[in-house]
Amino acid sequence: MIDFDAVRTDTPGARERVFLDSAGSSLPPEPVLRETIAHLRRESEVGGYRAAAERADDLDKGYAVAAGFLGCAPEEVAFTESATRSWLNAFTAVPLTEGDRVLISEAEYGSNAIAVYHRARAVGAQVDVVPSDETGTLDVAALRELLDERVRLVSLVHAPTNSGLVNPVREVVEAAHDAGALVLLDACQAAGQLRVNAEESGADLISLTGRKWLRGPRGTGILVVREEAARRLRPVQIDQHSATWTMPDQVRLRSDARVHELWEFSVADRLGLIAALRYADDLGIDAIEQAVRERAETLRAGLAGIDRVRVHDLGRVRSGIVSFTVDGVAADSVKNALRERRVTVSASGAHGALLDMSKRGLTEFVRASPHYFVSPEQLDEFLTVVADIAAT
Ligand SMILES: *Cc1c(COP(=O)(O)O)cnc(C)c1O
Repeated sequence: MIDFDAVRTDTPGARERVFLDSAGSSLPPEPVLRETIAHLRRESEVGGYRAAAERADDLDKGYAVAAGFLGCAPEEVAFTESATRSWLNAFTAVPLTEGDRVLISEAEYGSNAIAVYHRARAVGAQVDVVPSDETGTLDVAALRELLDERVRLVSLVHAPTNSGLVNPVREVVEAAHDAGALVLLDACQAAGQLRVNAEESGADLISLTGRKWLRGPRGTGILVVREEAARRLRPVQIDQHSATWTMPDQVRLRSDARVHELWEFSVADRLGLIAALRYADDLGIDAIEQAVRERAETLRAGLAGIDRVRVHDLGRVRSGIVSFTVDGVAADSVKNALRERRVTVSASGAHGALLDMSKRGLTEFVRASPHYFVSPEQLDEFLTVVADIAAT
């Protein structure tokens, strides 16, 4: 059981406002803040090099912390600056030539899709979209139909940015592996609210961010590269941390996942992310998942009961992302009206998930994403304010 009084004490911002944007950029708890700020202060006293050396052990332990949280080995973890940086490093390391195929799904995230279409065009590879079933969930049978020996990679979004959907990771991985394809799992909206486990899911590559449900600092991310998958990759974004310049005309790449890191990074933010991983682990991801799901279901049911409000969530299994619109009111206006009443949500256009949004004829939506620190009274408050907005 989560001690909700304790987590709210750790999260002052969650008491002053109804914060429903953990899918955007959540509120870091006090232990994360303390760690980050203390390190910035130390850098100002002794300089960044010495400050980092003082925390070398903790930075090193961070790999084991992330590995424990994500169900892999410490050598399979790389720390990066964002989910997108993680995803791009993994994607560009997958060999791809003319005639090869890449499969994406209807839930594909904007930046991932851009990279896939751009690179496929450059090398003459083919991109196919795996259809969804009637619930919006990736259709595993359709995936099996599309798979053949030319498919190098299946890109799977665990929980999309724009709908409440959770995709069936294990089934997708099994299908892809049967055909010899790698799976790159975008767990950006999953990590920190749902169980993301490399060993259990079998995913070869997993990208995620620190700032969303994990409640870490902005500018942080993780890439998991399973050992077996690493042997099939050809990393291209390397420097003198990820590789060694052994002779004037020769370089040797690291053999672990850190080949995907660069030498320079924000030590304060990395320490903050490690603290965020510990914080989530201490609460327990299963308890977090349950608390988030309950809150999201309460919002969906409440919103569905308000005149002129439409909930747009998909999926058989639902995440903590609740997407909706108010008839006749632009998403941005809903967001701004909520902000005036001390409620934080986000509003987005179709670009983040263009395939899915176009298919459903949606151009924008409001997103409410409640974390475990949001109280039941705050959920009611949100619903009351939305009802006010919809009525005027
Ligand atoms: C936010 C998001 C990303 C990108 O995360 P960054 O931290 O901006 O790199 C990737 N995939 C999904 C599904 C997202 O919602």
